[in-house]
Amino acid sequence: MAYKIDSNKCIGCHSCTAICPMMAIAIQSNGKCAIDPAKCVSCGTCASVCPVAAIAPAQ
Ligand code: SF4
Ligand code: SF4
Repeated sequence: MAYKIDSNKCIGCHSCTAICPMMAIAIQSNGKCAIDPAKCVSCGTCASVCPVAAIAPAQ
């Protein structure tokens, strides 16, 4: 199951984008980030670095 970013919590710090080994996280036009579920391998690395706990496995 892919991870998902809660856009209501994301503050656009972009700490997660560079750390993803699959380059699955993109910066959107609003400055917040989004995960491409087709690329995500659910390693959880992005969730471990997010300062506002905006990233979690998709429900
Ligand atoms: S869980 Fe892993 S593969 Fe998926 S977006 Fe986060 S860092 Fe990338
Ligand atoms: S690390 Fe968290 S707050 Fe920062 S851009 Fe990624 S999802 Fe948003």
